[in-house]
Amino acid sequence: MIRVRFAPSPTGMFHVGGARSALYNWALAEQSGGKFVLRIEDTDAARNRPEWTEGIISALAWIGISAESPVFEGPYFQSEFEAQHRAAAEKLAAEGKAYYCECTREDVVARTGSEQRGYDGFCRDRGLGPGPGRALRFRTPDDGVTVVEDVIRGRVEFPNAAMEDFVIARADGSPLYVLANAVDDIEQRITHVVRGEEHLTNAGRQQLLWPALGATPPVWAHLPVIVNEQRKKLSKRRDKVALESYRDEGYLPEAMVNYLMLLGWGPGGDREIMPWSEMMPLFRLEDVNPSSAFFDEKKLRAFNGEYIRALPLEEFVDRCRPYLDPSWDVEVFRRVAELAQTRVAVLSEIRDNVDFLFLDEPVFDQASWDKAMKPGAEEILTGYLARLETVPFDADSLKTALTEVGAEHGLKLGKAQAPVRVAVTGRTVGLPLFESIEVLGRERTIERLRAALK
Ligand code: GLU
Repeated sequence: MIRVRFAPSPTGMFHVGGARSALYNWALAEQSGGKFVLRIEDTDAARNRPEWTEGIISALAWIGISAESPVFEGPYFQSEFEAQHRAAAEKLAAEGKAYYCECTREDVVARTGSEQRGYDGFCRDRGLGPGPGRALRFRTPDDGVTVVEDVIRGRVEFPNAAMEDFVIARADGSPLYVLANAVDDIEQRITHVVRGEEHLTNAGRQQLLWPALGATPPVWAHLPVIVNEQRKKLSKRRDKVALESYRDEGYLPEAMVNYLMLLGWGPGGDREIMPWSEMMPLFRLEDVNPSSAFFDEKKLRAFNGEYIRALPLEEFVDRCRPYLDPSWDVEVFRRVAELAQTRVAVLSEIRDNVDFLFLDEPVFDQASWDKAMKPGAEEILTGYLARLETVPFDADSLKTALTEVGAEHGLKLGKAQAPVRVAVTGRTVGLPLFESIEVLGRERTIERLRAALK
């Protein structure tokens, strides 16, 4: 049975790269009837915060990964297994596969004359026992190569001579990530380790640790890095990387999942928009592209727009609700929802498109006002105002009326619309004007044109 895991450290917002790793693992588990283990690697007490853990769990649930599915196992917390990690370290020491070392960094630099060179093996055969100031190092082989057969990157070789005897437990006995992670993976019977490329060096070390701990190494797969437009690795400082911010802005989880799946993989053919249910069974680790994947926010927006347009109207209305003011009448919103649905790429844009219907006065944007209220605008507003008293109040008649007013002043409809639109909605762009006016109603429209003329 395939058992995969996702093992985030709760030290910050949930990164889109983490979400991609989680989805690839989720696809492997779902398609094979296997298990997806969520293990929160919370051993860095100084940097962990419970709210980050909650954030991870809720962000995963948002993209469809949750304990509601029988595929899901956990969450486990790495800190609960510290006794096992310590026991594993001691066993390795007892078997001579690891040794205690009391060298400080300065000692090593002094001996090797280099900051870069790794540990020189000074304590290897001194037979030191545990004690204050003594870390535990894993004894790596002197020659030959350690090979990581990576499903995505192929054969990756680590010459053993260049691999230092790495630390697996600190002087205070606390185990290091490289050991704890391997012990947990073994304990949780993980068959495939699918994670970010930044862990490839760890895979070299863990390829040695697994057999030393009596286990057969897993299938390894290291996913390509995700880069921004400048081809730089996505980073918290430079880029919008938190899955939560996309959620809050009004990206649909279906669109997000679809887009994230394509960061390094594709279903083949030129189809890109594909629901999870169709994509999941097609996913193959072997087909993941090892070169870096560009996180293209514009493309994600376009995807999201497509997913929004594909929603049944009622569902669109429901999903917009969190972005509308609770005091706004949903019935009124429903009357323009279909028009709005084709115009927004993310749900948070809905507000600016419809607020004019609910506010006493539209939100005027000075630049729009200046642009629309040119010489001649006043005549258009006055002429239209006169007709609004009597014109039948439907979009077609409202349009005909303005076309006529425009013609009287030598203006095409497009030009005549501009001041009316700004007077009524506050903005130069938005929903189709005459439908908007119809929904706004005679009285309020007249009021707004009058106010604009003052
Ligand atoms: N806690 C590690 C991280 O967040 C997990 C690495 C792994 O998947 O092995 O980077």
